[in-house]
Amino acid sequence: MKLMLHVAPGIVRRPIVSSVILETKALINIERAKVDAVSGEIVVDVEPERCSEVKAAFEARGVRVVLLENPIIKDDEECVHCGACISICPTGTFHFKGTEVVADAGKCVQCGTCVTACPQRALRLILK
Ligand code: SF4
Ligand code: SF4
Repeated sequence: MKLMLHVAPGIVRRPIVSSVILETKALINIERAKVDAVSGEIVVDVEPERCSEVKAAFEARGVRVVLLENPIIKDDEECVHCGACISICPTGTFHFKGTEVVADAGKCVQCGTCVTACPQRALRLILK
């Protein structure tokens, strides 16, 4: 399962991810991270059975955590199956099934690249 971590300014310099790994001993894969001196936005992938425990550990450290169950939404009424999102997505979220483009939303890390690339504006991210 993917978790979006919103790290607030007051705690962004703390070793939060490493301390959660040490505490939970869970396998936590960092899939995307945008961190500066002010705040951080990190997407991690966690074993499904450890997800609740890991989420609680981050929250105990002051991190706002959002479960990315369905991170990208495709409007099938607007999609013309051009394939632009397939070539641009870094995680392989989209693929052709016959002549139609379908999404495996579980792969999405919410980078937002496909949203601006789609000529039909058929893609949107869920609110974080
Ligand atoms: S880029 Fe947009 S229109 Fe093209 S296949 Fe993807 S979602 Fe559909
Ligand atoms: S936001 Fe779009 S391009 Fe980025 S990972 Fe998700 S599906 Fe792929």
